[in-house]
Amino acid sequence: RIAYVNGVYVPLRDASVHVEDRGFQFADSVYEVCEVRDGALVDETRHMGRLKRSLSELSIRMPMAENALKVVLRETLRRNRVVNGMVYFQVSRGAAKRDFLFPSPDTPPTLVVIARSLDRAKGDAGAASGIAVITLPDNRWERVDIKSTGLLPNVLAKQKARQQGAKEVWFFDEQGYVTEGGSSNAWIVTAENTLLTRPAESGILRGITRTTLMDLARRDNMVVTERAFTVAEAKAAKEAFVTSATNVVMPVVKIDDTVIGDGTPGALARKLRAHFHSVAEHSV
Ligand code: PLP
Repeated sequence: RIAYVNGVYVPLRDASVHVEDRGFQFADSVYEVCEVRDGALVDETRHMGRLKRSLSELSIRMPMAENALKVVLRETLRRNRVVNGMVYFQVSRGAAKRDFLFPSPDTPPTLVVIARSLDRAKGDAGAASGIAVITLPDNRWERVDIKSTGLLPNVLAKQKARQQGAKEVWFFDEQGYVTEGGSSNAWIVTAENTLLTRPAESGILRGITRTTLMDLARRDNMVVTERAFTVAEAKAAKEAFVTSATNVVMPVVKIDDTVIGDGTPGALARKLRAHFHSVAEHSV
């Protein structure tokens, strides 16, 4: 496998960044994950838009022009022969003598791009059975709207989920409302077949899959309401699912010890998963 690091393509085993990279020392860094399907980047425009927003919120500059970055993503995919899988790209504030304060503005940002093939059949098989989630208090910082690599609370929570036989965690806020998953957005379906997901104004990352799924659901005349729901509401829901670039729509069949519906993936979740790529942007 090949990685792109600051202007060069290198074998992954030799790919490294400086020990004083601010991404390494301070998690002073942001990232994106884009699904690759049949050789096309899914929702690339929206992922680029969010990258630029994350960088701008942190006053980190784009490591190169957007069009040049798009070329690097494609070249990394090509060199790794990825046709179905994902591309990960990360930008840090760069390497500089360790200091909390920003380094001089001429410090070049660090750009790393990695690509990986993923077995679509495996993802579909997982979606056919659905996943279990556990719930935990949200102990993350207030700026989860920025897709930063400061993911330690997510790491610890997802590890706890794994220990309890679950695939994902759903964080909840101080009022008991679900915020989002450890690496996904959370959705439920009410008895009236309304899709509920938390507004992106607070407590969550504005997922690209979430945005595109709202387009799809509304196109198909489903009712989508952006409103927060509690853990209790989720446990009583008709259906539950999560969205993310690599998992697309993944049905949730169990929340803590509560089985959702009849314990199999819900009809709407299955339908949305089946139709997602008919509405998402695919760029070659
Ligand atoms: N929320 C969090 C915390 C995430 O880490 C992710 C993706 O990794 C998402 C939501 C889903 O975002 P997207 O659909 O853009 O992958």
